[in-house]
Amino acid sequence: LNRRLAEFGTTIFAEMSALAVRTGSINLGQGFPDADGPEEVREAAVRALRNGRGNQYPPGPGVPELRTAIAAHQRDRYGLGYDPDTEVLVTAGATEAIAASLLALVEPGDEVIALEPYYDSYAACIAMAGGTRVPVTLRPRDGAYALDLDELRDAVTDRTRVILLNTPHNPTGTVLTRDELAAVAELAVERDLLVVTDEVYEHLVFDGEHTPVATFPGMRGRTVTIGSAGKTFSFTGWKVGWVTSTAELVTAVRSAKQYLTYVASGPFQYAVAEALRLPDSYFEEFRADMRGKRELLADGLEQAGFKVFRPAGTYFITTDIRPLGESDGFAFCRALPERAGVVAIPNAVFYDHKETGAPYVRFAFCKRVDVLADATKRLHKAFA
Ligand code: PMP
Ligand code: GLN
Repeated sequence: LNRRLAEFGTTIFAEMSALAVRTGSINLGQGFPDADGPEEVREAAVRALRNGRGNQYPPGPGVPELRTAIAAHQRDRYGLGYDPDTEVLVTAGATEAIAASLLALVEPGDEVIALEPYYDSYAACIAMAGGTRVPVTLRPRDGAYALDLDELRDAVTDRTRVILLNTPHNPTGTVLTRDELAAVAELAVERDLLVVTDEVYEHLVFDGEHTPVATFPGMRGRTVTIGSAGKTFSFTGWKVGWVTSTAELVTAVRSAKQYLTYVASGPFQYAVAEALRLPDSYFEEFRADMRGKRELLADGLEQAGFKVFRPAGTYFITTDIRPLGESDGFAFCRALPERAGVVAIPNAVFYDHKETGAPYVRFAFCKRVDVLADATKRLHKAFA
Protein backbone atom coordinates (compact mmCIF):
# COMPACT_ATOMS: atom_id res chain seq x y z
CA LEU A 1 0.00 0.00 0.00
CA ASN A 2 1.42 3.37 -0.93
CA ARG A 3 2.10 6.09 1.59
CA ARG A 4 -0.87 8.18 0.50
CA LEU A 5 -3.29 5.45 1.59
CA ALA A 6 -1.36 3.79 4.39
CA GLU A 7 -3.04 5.74 7.18
CA PHE A 8 -6.56 4.77 6.16
CA GLY A 9 -6.72 1.00 6.72
CA THR A 10 -10.15 -0.64 6.42
CA THR A 11 -13.15 1.67 6.33
CA ILE A 12 -14.97 1.67 9.66
CA PHE A 13 -18.25 0.81 7.93
CA ALA A 14 -16.96 -2.51 6.63
CA GLU A 15 -15.34 -3.27 9.98
CA MET A 16 -18.42 -2.50 12.03
CA SER A 17 -20.90 -4.24 9.72
CA ALA A 18 -18.71 -7.35 9.85
CA LEU A 19 -18.69 -7.07 13.65
CA ALA A 20 -22.51 -6.88 13.65
CA VAL A 21 -22.78 -10.02 11.52
CA ARG A 22 -20.18 -11.88 13.59
CA THR A 23 -21.86 -11.08 16.90
CA GLY A 24 -25.47 -11.19 15.72
CA SER A 25 -25.92 -7.60 16.90
CA ILE A 26 -28.37 -4.98 15.71
CA ASN A 27 -26.44 -2.90 13.20
CA LEU A 28 -26.95 0.79 13.91
CA GLY A 29 -23.47 1.44 12.54
CA GLN A 30 -23.34 1.61 8.75
CA GLY A 31 -25.97 3.94 7.30
CA PHE A 32 -28.16 1.78 5.09
CA PRO A 33 -31.90 1.29 5.40
CA ASP A 34 -33.18 -2.17 6.31
CA ALA A 35 -36.28 -1.61 4.18
CA ASP A 36 -35.81 -1.15 0.44
CA GLY A 37 -37.17 1.85 -1.44
CA PRO A 38 -40.47 2.09 -3.35
CA GLU A 39 -41.87 -0.99 -5.07
CA GLU A 40 -42.59 0.92 -8.28
CA VAL A 41 -38.95 1.96 -8.51
CA ARG A 42 -37.84 -1.66 -8.09
CA GLU A 43 -40.33 -2.59 -10.81
CA ALA A 44 -38.82 0.07 -13.04
CA ALA A 45 -35.41 -1.55 -12.58
CA VAL A 46 -36.81 -4.97 -13.45
CA ARG A 47 -38.50 -3.53 -16.53
CA ALA A 48 -35.25 -1.92 -17.64
CA LEU A 49 -33.40 -5.23 -17.23
CA ARG A 50 -36.07 -7.16 -19.13
CA ASN A 51 -36.27 -4.64 -21.92
CA GLY A 52 -32.54 -4.62 -22.42
CA ARG A 53 -32.12 -1.07 -21.23
CA GLY A 54 -28.74 -0.51 -19.65
CA ASN A 55 -27.51 -4.10 -19.77
CA GLN A 56 -24.57 -2.92 -21.84
CA TYR A 57 -22.37 0.10 -21.13
CA PRO A 58 -24.58 3.14 -20.81
CA PRO A 59 -23.32 6.48 -22.20
CA GLY A 60 -20.36 7.93 -20.29
CA PRO A 61 -22.24 10.86 -18.73
CA GLY A 62 -25.23 8.70 -17.81
CA VAL A 63 -28.42 7.78 -19.67
CA PRO A 64 -30.25 10.83 -21.08
CA GLU A 65 -33.47 9.98 -19.18
CA LEU A 66 -31.64 10.18 -15.87
CA ARG A 67 -29.67 13.30 -16.71
CA THR A 68 -32.92 15.01 -17.69
CA ALA A 69 -34.59 13.91 -14.46
CA ILE A 70 -31.65 15.16 -12.35
CA ALA A 71 -31.73 18.53 -14.10
CA ALA A 72 -35.51 18.75 -13.53
CA HIS A 73 -35.04 17.89 -9.85
CA GLN A 74 -32.50 20.69 -9.35
CA ARG A 75 -34.64 23.15 -11.28
CA ASP A 76 -38.00 22.33 -9.68
CA ARG A 77 -36.77 22.09 -6.10
CA TYR A 78 -34.07 24.72 -5.99
CA GLY A 79 -34.46 26.88 -9.08
CA LEU A 80 -31.03 25.73 -10.30
CA GLY A 81 -30.93 25.34 -14.06
CA TYR A 82 -28.51 22.77 -15.52
CA ASP A 83 -28.23 21.57 -19.09
CA PRO A 84 -28.74 17.79 -18.95
CA ASP A 85 -26.31 17.30 -21.83
CA THR A 86 -23.34 19.23 -20.49
CA GLU A 87 -23.93 20.07 -16.83
CA VAL A 88 -25.03 16.76 -15.32
CA LEU A 89 -22.92 13.65 -14.73
CA VAL A 90 -24.14 10.31 -13.39
CA THR A 91 -21.65 8.52 -11.12
CA ALA A 92 -21.24 5.21 -9.29
CA GLY A 93 -22.85 6.57 -6.14
CA ALA A 94 -21.97 9.82 -4.44
CA THR A 95 -18.75 8.09 -3.40
CA GLU A 96 -17.43 8.16 -6.95
CA ALA A 97 -18.67 11.70 -7.43
CA ILE A 98 -16.60 12.79 -4.44
CA ALA A 99 -13.54 10.88 -5.63
CA ALA A 100 -13.75 12.07 -9.22
CA SER A 101 -14.35 15.69 -8.16
CA LEU A 102 -11.31 15.74 -5.92
CA LEU A 103 -9.09 13.86 -8.38
CA ALA A 104 -10.12 16.26 -11.13
CA LEU A 105 -9.91 19.56 -9.27
CA VAL A 106 -7.10 19.22 -6.72
CA GLU A 107 -3.45 19.69 -7.67
CA PRO A 108 -0.81 17.94 -5.56
CA GLY A 109 -0.09 20.23 -2.63
CA ASP A 110 -3.44 22.03 -2.79
CA GLU A 111 -5.33 22.38 0.47
CA VAL A 112 -8.87 21.12 0.79
CA ILE A 113 -10.95 22.39 3.68
CA ALA A 114 -13.38 19.82 5.09
CA LEU A 115 -15.79 20.12 7.98
CA GLU A 116 -14.63 17.88 10.83
CA PRO A 117 -15.97 15.32 11.71
CA TYR A 118 -15.88 14.39 8.00
CA TYR A 119 -17.29 11.44 6.08
CA ASP A 120 -14.43 8.97 5.86
CA SER A 121 -13.99 8.86 2.08
CA TYR A 122 -13.18 12.58 1.98
CA ALA A 123 -9.86 12.13 3.71
CA ALA A 124 -8.85 9.17 1.57
CA CYS A 125 -9.85 10.88 -1.68
CA ILE A 126 -8.04 14.11 -0.79
CA ALA A 127 -4.97 11.97 -0.12
CA MET A 128 -5.34 10.06 -3.41
CA ALA A 129 -5.50 13.40 -5.19
CA GLY A 130 -2.26 14.42 -3.48
CA GLY A 131 -4.00 17.21 -1.61
CA THR A 132 -3.68 18.26 2.00
CA ARG A 133 -6.78 18.18 4.15
CA VAL A 134 -7.46 21.09 6.44
CA PRO A 135 -10.17 20.20 8.93
CA VAL A 136 -12.44 22.89 10.32
CA THR A 137 -14.10 21.47 13.38
CA LEU A 138 -17.82 21.67 14.03
CA ARG A 139 -18.31 22.15 17.75
CA PRO A 140 -21.20 21.37 20.09
CA ARG A 141 -23.16 24.49 20.91
CA ASP A 142 -26.63 24.57 22.48
CA GLY A 143 -27.26 20.87 21.86
CA ALA A 144 -26.17 20.91 18.20
CA TYR A 145 -22.96 21.10 16.20
CA ALA A 146 -22.16 24.49 14.74
CA LEU A 147 -19.68 25.85 12.23
CA ASP A 148 -17.38 28.59 13.50
CA LEU A 149 -17.19 30.98 10.57
CA ASP A 150 -14.08 32.69 11.90
CA GLU A 151 -12.33 29.35 12.09
CA LEU A 152 -13.35 28.63 8.52
CA ARG A 153 -12.10 32.00 7.36
CA ASP A 154 -8.79 31.50 9.18
CA ALA A 155 -8.33 28.09 7.55
CA VAL A 156 -8.14 29.57 4.06
CA THR A 157 -4.59 30.08 2.78
CA ASP A 158 -3.01 30.80 -0.58
CA ARG A 159 -2.90 27.05 -1.15
CA THR A 160 -6.61 26.47 -0.56
CA ARG A 161 -8.30 25.18 -3.67
CA VAL A 162 -11.56 23.57 -2.51
CA ILE A 163 -13.99 23.84 0.35
CA LEU A 164 -15.58 20.41 0.70
CA LEU A 165 -19.00 20.96 2.29
CA ASN A 166 -21.50 18.46 3.56
CA THR A 167 -25.01 19.51 4.51
CA PRO A 168 -27.06 17.88 5.98
CA HIS A 169 -23.94 16.72 7.76
CA ASN A 170 -22.88 13.15 8.46
CA PRO A 171 -22.26 12.25 11.32
CA THR A 172 -23.48 15.24 13.37
CA GLY A 173 -26.88 15.77 11.71
CA THR A 174 -26.23 19.49 11.43
CA VAL A 175 -27.97 21.36 8.63
CA LEU A 176 -26.07 24.51 7.69
CA THR A 177 -28.30 27.57 7.91
CA ARG A 178 -28.82 30.10 5.15
CA ASP A 179 -26.63 32.57 7.04
CA GLU A 180 -23.82 30.05 7.40
CA LEU A 181 -24.05 29.10 3.73
CA ALA A 182 -24.12 32.74 2.70
CA ALA A 183 -20.91 33.28 4.67
CA VAL A 184 -19.27 30.24 3.09
CA ALA A 185 -20.33 31.52 -0.32
CA GLU A 186 -18.95 34.99 0.33
CA LEU A 187 -15.65 33.51 1.42
CA ALA A 188 -15.47 31.27 -1.65
CA VAL A 189 -16.11 34.21 -3.96
CA GLU A 190 -13.70 36.49 -2.12
CA ARG A 191 -10.87 33.94 -2.15
CA ASP A 192 -11.79 32.45 -5.53
CA LEU A 193 -12.31 28.92 -4.24
CA LEU A 194 -14.20 25.95 -5.63
CA VAL A 195 -16.86 24.35 -3.46
CA VAL A 196 -17.59 20.64 -3.70
CA THR A 197 -20.79 20.06 -1.76
CA ASP A 198 -22.06 16.67 -0.66
CA GLU A 199 -25.83 17.04 -0.35
CA VAL A 200 -26.78 13.35 -0.33
CA TYR A 201 -29.15 13.88 2.63
CA GLU A 202 -30.94 16.81 0.97
CA HIS A 203 -34.34 15.14 1.42
CA LEU A 204 -33.77 14.30 5.06
CA VAL A 205 -34.14 17.61 6.83
CA PHE A 206 -36.41 17.61 9.88
CA ASP A 207 -35.75 21.07 11.31
CA GLY A 208 -35.10 24.00 8.99
CA GLU A 209 -34.64 23.47 5.28
CA HIS A 210 -32.00 22.35 2.85
CA THR A 211 -30.52 25.11 0.72
CA PRO A 212 -27.94 24.14 -1.90
CA VAL A 213 -24.87 26.33 -1.62
CA ALA A 214 -24.94 26.63 -5.44
CA THR A 215 -27.98 28.93 -5.12
CA PHE A 216 -26.00 31.75 -3.46
CA PRO A 217 -24.65 34.70 -5.46
CA GLY A 218 -21.51 33.89 -7.40
CA MET A 219 -21.69 30.20 -6.51
CA ARG A 220 -23.22 28.38 -9.45
CA GLY A 221 -20.03 28.78 -11.47
CA ARG A 222 -17.73 27.48 -8.74
CA THR A 223 -19.81 24.75 -7.10
CA VAL A 224 -19.93 21.02 -7.77
CA THR A 225 -23.11 19.62 -6.18
CA ILE A 226 -23.38 15.92 -5.37
CA GLY A 227 -26.53 13.83 -4.83
CA SER A 228 -27.29 10.13 -4.26
CA ALA A 229 -30.17 7.85 -5.19
CA GLY A 230 -28.94 5.41 -2.57
CA LYS A 231 -29.76 7.89 0.17
CA THR A 232 -32.81 9.56 -1.38
CA PHE A 233 -34.63 6.39 -2.46
CA SER A 234 -33.18 3.78 -0.09
CA PHE A 235 -31.28 1.77 -2.67
CA THR A 236 -27.73 2.03 -1.38
CA GLY A 237 -26.71 -1.11 -3.28
CA TRP A 238 -27.55 0.39 -6.66
CA LYS A 239 -24.74 2.92 -6.52
CA VAL A 240 -26.32 5.71 -8.52
CA GLY A 241 -25.12 9.22 -7.71
CA TRP A 242 -24.70 12.44 -9.63
CA VAL A 243 -22.91 15.71 -10.07
CA THR A 244 -24.39 18.99 -11.27
CA SER A 245 -22.18 21.95 -12.11
CA THR A 246 -21.01 24.10 -14.99
CA ALA A 247 -20.06 22.42 -18.25
CA GLU A 248 -16.39 23.16 -17.56
CA LEU A 249 -16.40 21.61 -14.10
CA VAL A 250 -18.55 18.65 -15.14
CA THR A 251 -16.15 17.98 -18.01
CA ALA A 252 -13.26 18.03 -15.54
CA VAL A 253 -14.99 15.65 -13.12
CA ARG A 254 -15.90 13.40 -16.03
CA SER A 255 -12.27 13.25 -17.11
CA ALA A 256 -11.47 11.53 -13.82
CA LYS A 257 -14.68 9.50 -13.64
CA GLN A 258 -14.15 7.89 -17.06
CA TYR A 259 -10.98 6.23 -15.82
CA LEU A 260 -12.37 5.17 -12.46
CA THR A 261 -15.46 3.19 -13.47
CA TYR A 262 -16.21 4.62 -16.93
CA VAL A 263 -19.93 3.87 -16.26
CA ALA A 264 -22.04 1.95 -13.74
CA SER A 265 -25.51 0.73 -12.79
CA GLY A 266 -27.05 0.66 -16.31
CA PRO A 267 -30.61 -0.58 -15.62
CA PHE A 268 -30.73 1.20 -12.27
CA GLN A 269 -30.14 4.52 -13.98
CA TYR A 270 -33.49 4.14 -15.78
CA ALA A 271 -35.20 3.25 -12.52
CA VAL A 272 -33.73 6.25 -10.71
CA ALA A 273 -34.93 8.49 -13.55
CA GLU A 274 -38.45 7.36 -12.67
CA ALA A 275 -37.80 7.69 -8.94
CA LEU A 276 -36.80 11.32 -9.31
CA ARG A 277 -40.21 11.97 -10.83
CA LEU A 278 -42.12 10.48 -7.89
CA PRO A 279 -44.74 12.88 -6.53
CA ASP A 280 -43.91 15.18 -3.62
CA SER A 281 -45.82 12.81 -1.35
CA TYR A 282 -42.98 10.26 -1.65
CA PHE A 283 -40.41 12.75 -0.38
CA GLU A 284 -42.75 13.98 2.37
CA GLU A 285 -43.51 10.47 3.58
CA PHE A 286 -39.85 9.47 3.48
CA ARG A 287 -38.97 12.46 5.63
CA ALA A 288 -41.91 11.97 8.00
CA ASP A 289 -41.03 8.30 8.45
CA MET A 290 -37.41 9.12 9.28
CA ARG A 291 -38.46 11.94 11.58
CA GLY A 292 -40.53 9.46 13.61
CA LYS A 293 -37.53 7.15 13.77
CA ARG A 294 -35.32 10.00 14.87
CA GLU A 295 -37.63 10.62 17.83
CA LEU A 296 -37.79 6.94 18.69
CA LEU A 297 -34.04 6.40 18.74
CA ALA A 298 -33.17 9.80 20.24
CA ASP A 299 -35.63 9.27 23.11
CA GLY A 300 -34.38 5.73 23.63
CA LEU A 301 -30.74 6.81 23.73
CA GLU A 302 -31.56 9.60 26.16
CA GLN A 303 -33.41 7.21 28.44
CA ALA A 304 -30.44 4.86 28.33
CA GLY A 305 -28.27 7.72 29.61
CA PHE A 306 -26.53 9.06 26.49
CA LYS A 307 -26.31 12.76 25.79
CA VAL A 308 -28.04 13.08 22.43
CA PHE A 309 -27.46 15.64 19.69
CA ARG A 310 -30.88 15.48 18.09
CA PRO A 311 -30.06 15.82 14.39
CA ALA A 312 -31.73 18.48 12.24
CA GLY A 313 -31.09 16.22 9.23
CA THR A 314 -29.60 12.89 7.96
CA TYR A 315 -30.39 9.52 9.49
CA PHE A 316 -27.65 9.59 12.11
CA ILE A 317 -27.57 10.57 15.76
CA THR A 318 -24.34 11.61 17.39
CA THR A 319 -24.20 10.94 21.11
CA ASP A 320 -21.82 11.83 23.92
CA ILE A 321 -20.98 8.78 26.04
CA ARG A 322 -19.47 10.66 28.97
CA PRO A 323 -22.70 10.64 31.01
CA LEU A 324 -22.33 6.82 30.97
CA GLY A 325 -18.93 7.19 32.61
CA GLU A 326 -17.18 6.40 29.31
CA SER A 327 -14.77 8.53 27.33
CA ASP A 328 -13.25 6.36 24.60
CA GLY A 329 -15.70 5.85 21.73
CA PHE A 330 -13.48 3.26 20.04
CA ALA A 331 -13.33 1.05 23.11
CA PHE A 332 -17.02 1.66 23.73
CA CYS A 333 -18.01 0.58 20.21
CA ARG A 334 -15.78 -2.47 20.29
CA ALA A 335 -17.40 -3.60 23.54
CA LEU A 336 -20.96 -2.63 22.62
CA PRO A 337 -21.93 -5.90 20.85
CA GLU A 338 -20.95 -7.85 23.96
CA ARG A 339 -22.57 -5.42 26.38
CA ALA A 340 -25.76 -4.62 24.52
CA GLY A 341 -25.96 -6.53 21.24
CA VAL A 342 -25.81 -3.29 19.27
CA VAL A 343 -23.25 -1.89 16.82
CA ALA A 344 -22.44 1.83 16.49
CA ILE A 345 -19.66 3.92 14.96
CA PRO A 346 -17.00 5.80 16.98
CA ASN A 347 -16.98 9.38 15.66
CA ALA A 348 -13.22 9.63 16.26
CA VAL A 349 -12.72 7.94 12.88
CA PHE A 350 -14.11 11.10 11.30
CA TYR A 351 -11.56 13.37 13.02
CA ASP A 352 -7.95 14.41 12.59
CA HIS A 353 -8.20 15.70 16.14
CA LYS A 354 -8.85 12.23 17.57
CA GLU A 355 -9.03 13.45 21.15
CA THR A 356 -11.77 15.94 20.23
CA GLY A 357 -13.86 13.18 18.67
CA ALA A 358 -13.10 10.52 21.29
CA PRO A 359 -16.25 10.65 23.45
CA TYR A 360 -18.76 10.66 20.59
CA VAL A 361 -20.56 7.72 19.06
CA ARG A 362 -22.92 7.63 16.08
CA PHE A 363 -26.11 5.58 15.76
CA ALA A 364 -28.08 5.19 12.51
CA PHE A 365 -31.89 5.24 12.66
CA CYS A 366 -32.72 4.22 9.07
CA LYS A 367 -34.05 0.93 10.45
CA ARG A 368 -37.48 -0.63 10.99
CA VAL A 369 -39.40 0.62 14.02
CA ASP A 370 -39.33 -2.79 15.70
CA VAL A 371 -35.56 -2.97 15.21
CA LEU A 372 -35.08 0.49 16.76
CA ALA A 373 -37.38 -0.42 19.65
CA ASP A 374 -35.40 -3.61 20.27
CA ALA A 375 -32.11 -1.71 20.11
CA THR A 376 -33.23 0.94 22.58
CA LYS A 377 -34.49 -1.77 24.94
CA ARG A 378 -31.09 -3.46 24.80
CA LEU A 379 -29.25 -0.19 25.41
CA HIS A 380 -31.53 0.67 28.29
CA LYS A 381 -30.92 -2.71 29.88
CA ALA A 382 -27.16 -2.36 29.46
CA PHE A 383 -26.73 1.22 30.66
CA ALA A 384 -29.73 2.75 32.42
N1 PMP B 1 -21.62 11.21 1.41
C1 PMP B 1 -22.09 11.03 2.64
C2 PMP B 1 -22.11 12.17 3.60
C3 PMP B 1 -22.56 9.78 3.02
O1 PMP B 1 -23.03 9.59 4.25
C4 PMP B 1 -22.52 8.73 2.10
C5 PMP B 1 -22.95 7.37 2.51
N2 PMP B 1 -23.89 6.88 1.69
C6 PMP B 1 -22.02 8.97 0.82
C7 PMP B 1 -21.58 10.23 0.51
C8 PMP B 1 -21.93 7.91 -0.22
O2 PMP B 1 -23.08 7.82 -1.00
P1 PMP B 1 -23.28 6.66 -2.07
O3 PMP B 1 -23.79 5.47 -1.32
O4 PMP B 1 -24.27 7.21 -3.03
O5 PMP B 1 -21.97 6.38 -2.71
N1 GLN C 1 -22.70 6.58 4.25
C1 GLN C 1 -22.86 5.46 5.12
C2 GLN C 1 -22.54 5.87 6.52
O1 GLN C 1 -22.09 6.96 6.76
C3 GLN C 1 -22.00 4.28 4.78
C4 GLN C 1 -21.44 4.18 3.42
C5 GLN C 1 -20.30 3.22 3.37
O2 GLN C 1 -20.36 2.17 3.93
N2 GLN C 1 -19.25 3.61 2.73
O3 GLN C 1 -22.72 5.09 7.41
